Amino acid sequence: MATVTLTNVAKRFGAFEVVHGANIDIADGEFVVFVGPSGCGKSTLLRMIAGLEDISGGEIAIGGKVVNDVEPADRGIAMVFQSYALYPHMSVEQNLSFGLRMTGNPKADTERRVKRAAEILRISELMDRRPKKLSGGQRQRVAIGRAIVREPQVFLFDEPLSNLDAELRVQMRVEISRLHKELGATMVYVTHDQTEAMTLADRIVVLRAGHIEQIGRPLELYDNPDNMFVAGFVGSPK
Ligand code: ADP
Ligand code: MG
Repeated sequence: MATVTLTNVAKRFGAFEVVHGANIDIADGEFVVFVGPSGCGKSTLLRMIAGLEDISGGEIAIGGKVVNDVEPADRGIAMVFQSYALYPHMSVEQNLSFGLRMTGNPKADTERRVKRAAEILRISELMDRRPKKLSGGQRQRVAIGRAIVREPQVFLFDEPLSNLDAELRVQMRVEISRLHKELGATMVYVTHDQTEAMTLADRIVVLRAGHIEQIGRPLELYDNPDNMFVAGFVGSPK
């Protein structure tokens, strides 16, 4: 587990600034959701935390340590994407263990981690299957499993459920909530879906066009939105 602190974090693509000096303090073990319309900078923020995108200004710290110049692999994070590209020719077990095998993690420890992730996600009975023999929800579980086996301090999710149908989305939302409680890890979760944000988050960061409009607990935002935009986004009547 770890804190994540963004101080005046900015991002420019050429002359175009897409994130304007963001300040966000995420506590150890907190579930924080970035919400906002398409193009507002959610993925860019997440990718900067992950180290997949350089930052143009400011500072990002994970567990109190500035990581601006730290490689993604050394940041103690794991990311789950919307398009969970599993290796089609590998079994679930191999999909889960592949990353650890590549980095030379000891075999017994890899087996322990894979077994634990499978138990947490309730996919232990699917270990020999290929991805094409899995349902959408099962595939998404395997993708999350690949993050869990890395035993990260911080999980980063970029719209992980947006490819699933409505029913499965609700189911996986419950699963992700359970996962957060079970692992106690810090989670940063991006979505444009306000229901997802309201039900999952300890705190929500509402973004608009690269600005933070408001940060607060779901009910705080609902009861006391700072402006019409936030009100519209959290679905309150103001
Ligand atoms: P969101 O995830 O909220 O939909 P993004 O973070 O993907 O938004 O994008 C924020 C803005 O940055 C958008 O205007 C997008 O077009 C722009 N953008 C994202 N990636 C790049 C890039 N590699 N080059 C130029 N512009 C980009
Ligand atoms: Mg995005």
